Amino acid sequence: MKNPPKIAVIGLDGCSPKYLEKILSYGFVPTIKQIISKHGYFKLYAFPPCTPPSWSSIMSGVNPGKHGIYGFQHYNRSTGSTYLTSALHLEHPRVHEMLGINGLKSIVINPIPSYPLIPVKNTLIISHMFFTPRLVWYPEHIGKYAKLLREHSYRSSTREEYLENVANTLDDYLALVESLIDRFDWNMFWLNLHYPDAILHKFDEKWVFEKQYYFEDKIFGKIDRIVKMMLRESDYLVIVSDHGFSHYHTIININSFLFRRRYAVEDKEGRGLREFWEHGENKDYLGISNRLVLRIANNKLFSKMIPPIKNLIEKITGKKIRTAEYNVDVKASKAFLLSTYSHGIILNDTPIKERLVSELKTLEGIADVRDSTKIYDGPYIGRAPDLLVFPDYDSGYCLGKNKITRIVYRRKEVNNHHPIGIFILSGPTGETSREDDANIVPNHIVANTIMLLLNQPLSNHADSIELAEKIAGRKNSGFKDYVGTWRLVKRIATIKSSGIKAH
Ligand SMILES: [Zn+2]
Repeated sequence: MKNPPKIAVIGLDGCSPKYLEKILSYGFVPTIKQIISKHGYFKLYAFPPCTPPSWSSIMSGVNPGKHGIYGFQHYNRSTGSTYLTSALHLEHPRVHEMLGINGLKSIVINPIPSYPLIPVKNTLIISHMFFTPRLVWYPEHIGKYAKLLREHSYRSSTREEYLENVANTLDDYLALVESLIDRFDWNMFWLNLHYPDAILHKFDEKWVFEKQYYFEDKIFGKIDRIVKMMLRESDYLVIVSDHGFSHYHTIININSFLFRRRYAVEDKEGRGLREFWEHGENKDYLGISNRLVLRIANNKLFSKMIPPIKNLIEKITGKKIRTAEYNVDVKASKAFLLSTYSHGIILNDTPIKERLVSELKTLEGIADVRDSTKIYDGPYIGRAPDLLVFPDYDSGYCLGKNKITRIVYRRKEVNNHHPIGIFILSGPTGETSREDDANIVPNHIVANTIMLLLNQPLSNHADSIELAEKIAGRKNSGFKDYVGTWRLVKRIATIKSSGIKAH
């Protein structure tokens, strides 16, 4: 092994332990199976189970209170507006950025936050998914490799066509990894894939966690080939997901509840709170109000009759009926859920907090409601929503969108994010799995473990240091203030990138 050694990381967005067990048992991923039979794996805890904050923690080694990203969007209390979070809102460097500062080389494909791309010395970066509006890379000379990632049309009409498209996209990633992995010198090679998350969002059926779906063997066969290549070229290999995925039977609409209790106020002009989604499914909701349908919808007795009535009315009128949905008026509301994946409630009126928490806690399907300052800590805690809602995931409840629909509980079979992901580590390390509950590790452990394995000083803000030392099987050699240097790098990037302002 060279000193410093080489570490390869593959991110599998949304891969839960149960889904992992399924693809292992079907034999789709022989290389991953081999690694797990030797090393086992940790369950990775992420709250909120949401792509931008979780990947930011995984890649930076700190909790959101220190990196500043709490969701897809941030709420600005003084203006009452929301904006999409980006790499410019990230306040702690990611592992490739810390390594770059120390003179170690990295290749990073799809860092998160993905946009804008922040150029750092000693790193090659290609960004082509999640929120990247277009394919971007750094430095200029790697353009010919970046272009191996072709544009695939995802507006396909059937699920089968979509899955075939995913397989084609993975062929591009295979070609990219193959062409970069032994052509350039690196200490860390990090590839994030939007799978299985993007696939699982296409299914609401429970069987997707148990049975094989179309093209799944091909898709995961290609991912396994990427893993095999990475394993061959590195001393350590990490496979990590930012959150899990699970099946639910009930969707809880928090803002509808807050509206009923007069905490949240509707904005009938439709300006209010927007919601940003991960997969471009950002439909504009019609404010069509059909009072009759709504009254029926709110009545349990008639709820079974709705679909046939709805179908009949639609047949007669030739128009689609949708239940009225209103945006939240953020200024007039005392409290509101910011967005589905943030799991966060914003309070405009703090004296109501205690009463609100106790009312929410008595709701069916809510496991807990906690102050964000009890969950996160750091200089950017002020950006966090005031309260965090923990649905009772394992009893089948998840959170719905942030619109006021007046229906608090929607009984619907859906698949969606879950806080437990996976963390697999192969190589001559310390602990690679534990028994039972102790097997759950926080998501920020990943970057710190990598820093230790590469013999690099940890950030003086790093979280869960002792645990990272146990997992890496070595002690931290000292602390370093990376944030100061990172601020300068980010400022230069801010000047260069147009259109996006740092807040
Ligand atoms: Zn997702």
